Amino acid sequence: VEDIKRIDKDYIKYFQSEAKLMPYTWAVIRIDGCHFHKFADVHKFEKPNDEQALKLMNECAVGVLDEFREVIFSYGVSDEYSFILKRSSHLQRTNPSDIVSSVVSLFTSMYVMKWKAFFPLTDLVCQPSFDGRVVCYPSTEILRDYLSWRQVDCHINNQYNTCFWMLVKSGKSRSDAQQILKGTQSQEKMELLANNFGIDYNTIGEMLRLGSSAFWEEENGCSKIVVQHCNIIDDGFWGAHPCILA
Ligand code: ATP
Ligand code: ATP
Ligand code: MG
Ligand code: MG
Ligand code: MG
Ligand code: MG
Repeated sequence: VEDIKRIDKDYIKYFQSEAKLMPYTWAVIRIDGCHFHKFADVHKFEKPNDEQALKLMNECAVGVLDEFREVIFSYGVSDEYSFILKRSSHLQRTNPSDIVSSVVSLFTSMYVMKWKAFFPLTDLVCQPSFDGRVVCYPSTEILRDYLSWRQVDCHINNQYNTCFWMLVKSGKSRSDAQQILKGTQSQEKMELLANNFGIDYNTIGEMLRLGSSAFWEEENGCSKIVVQHCNIIDDGFWGAHPCILA
């Protein structure tokens, strides 16, 4: 031990050095469930959308916001969640692997701890895991484009999945359903749902169509974390919440 004490610590730490989060940019940590296609099958998630599974994801996101106060907004859909860090937070925490691994492990352990509350009748039979990455966006405009991209993705996937599973549930094989939907535009999918199944796509639950946003909101002088299902592409939401991306 006395010998080892003589080793120059800076020399050892040199190997740890790595890129830091770019200062004064919007850092977004996105986590995504690993192999959730299988995880959803094993735990018999409802298709196309298991609402309890989405609510469990939202609850875990609320836990992340509560623990990491530098997260000012988050957006989730399917098995993913994006957490946006306050720009000034780069002064406190700059090591990307530290922050990503902390968020991912907290999210995962919350998912396990809260499972029973959302799935009282289903045992957790294989362990959920999530991967995570952080990307820095240099302007608010680009951050808004990032969020719009995720919400558009939610819309496109949900519209496709709604059609696919209605076709399958009505007796079509999976490959037939795939063939029917191949190359269809949004309008054609809306018509397919209306004409064949009497479904008006726009009346499907907001959480499924729009995804979920969890963020801090002022209410009667005290702030609390809320989960809303709103359009985050248009200016309306951001105009009504000017403090979030201030
Ligand atoms: P990877 O490990 O590469 O992320 P994955 O199987 O998790 O693979 P994703 O592209 O992340 O693939 O897609 C997540 C999948 O999880 C969906 O395609 C769907 O099958 C399933 N899934 C996630 N959440 C739900 C839900 N709430 N209801 C039903 N199915 C869900
Ligand atoms: P950070 O979040 O920055 O890592 P920390 O409180 O986890 O803060 P560490 O430097 O990681 O601080 O130190 C871990 C601390 O956890 C130890 O100082 C000790 O107090 C406690 N600890 C960890 N493992 C044990 C153990 N097996 N028995 C008793 N105490 C432990
Ligand atoms: Mg993945
Ligand atoms: Mg996944
Ligand atoms: Mg995913
Ligand atoms: Mg630590």
